[in-house]
Amino acid sequence: MKKIILMFHDVYHESPSESGYLGTGPDLYKLSESNFVNLVHYISEFKNKNNFVFTFDDGGISFYTIIAPILERYNLKGVFFIATDMIGKAGFMSAEQILDLDRRGHIIGSHSHTHRRLSSIPPDEVYNEWHTSKNVLESILGHNVTVASIPNGYQSDFVLSEASRCGYTEMYTSAPTCRVSRKHSLNLYGRFVMMKSVSIMDLSRLDFSIIRSYLFIRAKMLLFIQKLLGQYYKKIRNAILK
Ligand SMILES: [Zn+2]
Repeated sequence: MKKIILMFHDVYHESPSESGYLGTGPDLYKLSESNFVNLVHYISEFKNKNNFVFTFDDGGISFYTIIAPILERYNLKGVFFIATDMIGKAGFMSAEQILDLDRRGHIIGSHSHTHRRLSSIPPDEVYNEWHTSKNVLESILGHNVTVASIPNGYQSDFVLSEASRCGYTEMYTSAPTCRVSRKHSLNLYGRFVMMKSVSIMDLSRLDFSIIRSYLFIRAKMLLFIQKLLGQYYKKIRNAILK
């Protein structure tokens, strides 16, 4: 069976504002601790947990305080993507905490440096985003970093080719698919986003290829609508999904 790669963000005890980026948009992707534990427990007990990959974007403090301890309780490892400009800032992990996760066997990857919309910033800045982030992480960890994920799924051919030019080899996208593809010498892995209201039912549906195809087509349509609406898209999305 193909691996199902899950894309999480933060997990919170009391309030979504404890960890990661703040605001209505980011809050849509933050899970309560009880919901997260339920999902991890379900996968461990009722699924072949080796078929699932747990990835986490942004670098919020909850990666260290909540998420890693829960994963470890179930003998699982996480893939943690860090927006390196936020290291040490309020609500985000410190360099020492990132190093500790690496030493505990979790995978640390880049999530760009400043978490901007990489597909629409000036071309020379795209390389810098990938390059700076890689350098920051490598100086913390003391080893090569070749894994990355794209902020908010703003992917383009150029964004990928610049990541490859920087020396990344594994890129995690926001396309809901189990298919691994290859572009610009990068292995591209699709991911299934876990939003705040995600349930065990949603998770179990991912077993069915028809559901995965539906999610893939829906994501393509959303991307199209997003392009049409431009700056209004986020406002409308936040209002609908609140
Ligand atoms: Zn992000």
